[in-house]
Amino acid sequence: MGRLIEYLLELVVVLIVGRLLGGTLRHFFGAATLHMPDGSPRTRKERSRPQTVRGEMVRDPVCRMFVATELSHRLEWRGQTLHFCSKECLEAYRKTAAAAG
Ligand SMILES: [Zn+2]
Repeated sequence: MGRLIEYLLELVVVLIVGRLLGGTLRHFFGAATLHMPDGSPRTRKERSRPQTVRGEMVRDPVCRMFVATELSHRLEWRGQTLHFCSKECLEAYRKTAAAAG
């Protein structure tokens, strides 16, 4: 019986100390830890996005960077499909192409 009470007391002490420590830590690092639940799912979602992109890589004719055809902004221009990294590049090309005739 004595052992059980000792064990229970120990358990209670551990729980209380744990709570106090937890509360203190939360108090000190509250800002940092409280932002984690909000931020982590979002960052996890972004990270879970596949890094390897299947499909073809083509060059953006405006900024010359390579873009995946899967993710590109497309423009049908004189029978061919052009791929752009962004809407801005697409619009820029459309403007210059329209100006050039
Ligand atoms: Zn671009």
